[in-house]
Amino acid sequence: MGGYLTNHQKSRCTACETCAAVCPVSAIGFAEDDEGFRYPTVDEGACVHCGTCVRACPMEKGVPKNAGAPLVFGGYNRDDEVRDKSTSGGVFAALAEVWCDEDCAIFGAEAKGLEIRHSCITDKRELGKFQKSKYSQSTGGKQAFQKAKEHLLAGKRVLYSGTPCQIAGLMKYIGTDCPTEKLLTVEVVCEGFPSPILMRKYVEELEEKRGSKVTALDYRYKDKDKWDFQVMKIDFADGRSKKVDRWFSPFWIFWLKGLMSRPSCADCEFRTPDRTADITLGDLWGVQKYCPELYGENKGCSLVVASSPKGKKVLQETKKYLFGHDLRYEDALRYQSPMRSSAPANPKRDEFMEDLKKLSYSELCKKWRPRYSLKLLISKYVWGSNRQIVFLWKIKRKIFGNLGRAHLN
Ligand SMILES: Cc1cc2nc3c(=O)[nH]c(=O)nc-3n(C[C@H](O)[C@H](O)[C@H](O)COP(=O)(O)OP(=O)(O)OC[C@H]3O[C@@H](n4cnc5c(N)ncnc54)[C@H](O)[C@@H]3O)c2cc1C
Repeated sequence: MGGYLTNHQKSRCTACETCAAVCPVSAIGFAEDDEGFRYPTVDEGACVHCGTCVRACPMEKGVPKNAGAPLVFGGYNRDDEVRDKSTSGGVFAALAEVWCDEDCAIFGAEAKGLEIRHSCITDKRELGKFQKSKYSQSTGGKQAFQKAKEHLLAGKRVLYSGTPCQIAGLMKYIGTDCPTEKLLTVEVVCEGFPSPILMRKYVEELEEKRGSKVTALDYRYKDKDKWDFQVMKIDFADGRSKKVDRWFSPFWIFWLKGLMSRPSCADCEFRTPDRTADITLGDLWGVQKYCPELYGENKGCSLVVASSPKGKKVLQETKKYLFGHDLRYEDALRYQSPMRSSAPANPKRDEFMEDLKKLSYSELCKKWRPRYSLKLLISKYVWGSNRQIVFLWKIKRKIFGNLGRAHLN
């Protein structure tokens, strides 16, 4: 199908930045379009038309995926503090503990206000910068890829985390002339990237209303053990904060309806059971249905899929830091649509995006947010009843024994 550099179709660019990283004359930059998504721009004066960028683009020919049965695990970090500071079960931190020695480089997405950037740390104590999902696409891929390769060539261990398309870009950038035994790639299960314009407008309006600057945004605040409520927390400079749960949050409503995703996310080549990275991390959605013993009081639980031999070995070693057990991939996939197939954009996406460009945040919500209805409340409390489902399961277990479920590690 070709990539954006050859056909200029926006659905054929993930903004991984591999093209910019490989360009021998630094002729490629990235700029936002009017929907807030970044695409390559070529400086025609500098370009030598060597075609390196096209050959390196993961969307041109694709990237090999790990085939064969993966090792699948469900569970969470034994350290409650780590788990609390993480989005799901805190498995990313446990992997870093196992993979990284004193002389390693860890790459991940760091929040600087509302802007998200891929950066590098060489001290594990700074890992907190990367913990927590930031639902906005990171910049800085070019520099991160270049640095990662430098570290590998220098013989250092590297842990590179990102979305599947970013890992595919890294693998294309690294190519075959660089040793990869010391590279561990960790990707997140990815729903896609929303337009950053919505959050910018929201924050602008909040700051105006409150007369105080927003200092931090936590998309997945656990709010005293509400992992599956997905509470967003916004902190202000005056010390106050605001919390919104996902059932009432326009951000989650618009995004999960496919109204404002990046075009390439609607036709994503990485939403398949075969994965690109050594290890894939996600939320253990459906935990209350097929493995309630892992719900763990709703403090967060992870799905871990190790697809390569290296990933499987590292996961086996990491288990000592985790509470949980192996799962069947078929069960996990049932609740993970981003690991099964692509999710086409909402037919109303273009209309929504036009409004997103021109309306204020309040005007947009007035027009597009569904009315708070009884149906919404029922949805929220049926979803919110995970805790009750698990509670009933515990009572049954007390009465009837372990119900044939696997024992915890
Ligand atoms: C954009 C996005 C969409 C996601 N969609 C889903 C989904 O549909 N279903 C699901 O089960 N899980 C999804 N996840 C993954 C999930 O939210 C957790 O990140 C994952 O379970 C790891 O949790 P943890 O507790 O082990 O790690 P945490 O400590 O929370 O680690 C977070 C990891 O995510 C990486 N990360 C954070 N933000 C970004 C970003 N903007 N770009 C690239 N990497 C980032 C960090 O580098 C780090 O490696 C998504 C994550 C992101 C970033």
